[in-house]
Amino acid sequence: MLSASSCLLAHLRFAGTIACVTFAMPELPDVETFKRYFDASSLHQRIGHVDVRDAYILKDISACELARRLKGRQFKSSRRHGKHLFVRADDDLWLRLHFGMTGSLQYFKREVQAPKYARVLFVFTNNHRLAFEDQRKFGEIGLIEDVIEYLKKRALGRDALDIDLSQFRAIFRKHGGAVKTILLNQKLIAGIGNIYADEILFRTRLHPATEISALKAKTVSKLFRVTRYILKKAIESKADADLMPKSWLLAHRGKGGKCPGCGRKLRSATIGGRTAWFCAHCQKRRL
Ligand SMILES: [Zn+2]
Repeated sequence: MLSASSCLLAHLRFAGTIACVTFAMPELPDVETFKRYFDASSLHQRIGHVDVRDAYILKDISACELARRLKGRQFKSSRRHGKHLFVRADDDLWLRLHFGMTGSLQYFKREVQAPKYARVLFVFTNNHRLAFEDQRKFGEIGLIEDVIEYLKKRALGRDALDIDLSQFRAIFRKHGGAVKTILLNQKLIAGIGNIYADEILFRTRLHPATEISALKAKTVSKLFRVTRYILKKAIESKADADLMPKSWLLAHRGKGGKCPGCGRKLRSATIGGRTAWFCAHCQKRRL
């Protein structure tokens, strides 16, 4: 089983108690981990039927139509962009998955193994099943014909691991605002969410509210390198906080948490509508 909540939330512990009780939404490393799980478990098997148990998460398609259009097809390949996962079903159709706040995947054989919050089950002709589970139902499932067109329509920026340094620099040159708000803006850079934006800024030693116009070119280059490092390292750790370095902010964020660098109490602030955790001593605000 692979669950977004077990990836992050269940592991956000501090001094033996859970430091943070809100759900961590799946970000780029989580969705890349889901992609690899999907590829390893569910490609190249014929779909016998699709069991929609809660149509709430379906977008622009009915349960009957989803089942009818997928029946008899095989998932051939997948691609991720930001927090979105697309799976090609034969040649001309793509299944679109977004994991919302609590979405995850589980592949299993017997019906009794179905997860409690399974919303859609893809039942293969070999009788194995892939469940999309989603306790809080902010996830989305849909069918599309063209991934590029979909990304354009949603006006999503380049994937955070696909963007190059000159494109990254151009974003920081052309926009204003707090550095964390820029990192979170999916229309500029796709894939970074609240947890990893904080981690990236902690490692770059930047206060999350720093105005980007105050950043020197070499700081922007460092931010670019750190972004890649953190996201790749998190993917290597299968987005599991227990497998990530203890020097990261991740395991310490939340009330009562202390900076893994200097030991001082972590602070929080609302920036860009999200709660940022940071160390006011290690992360300086550039004015
Ligand atoms: Zn510190």
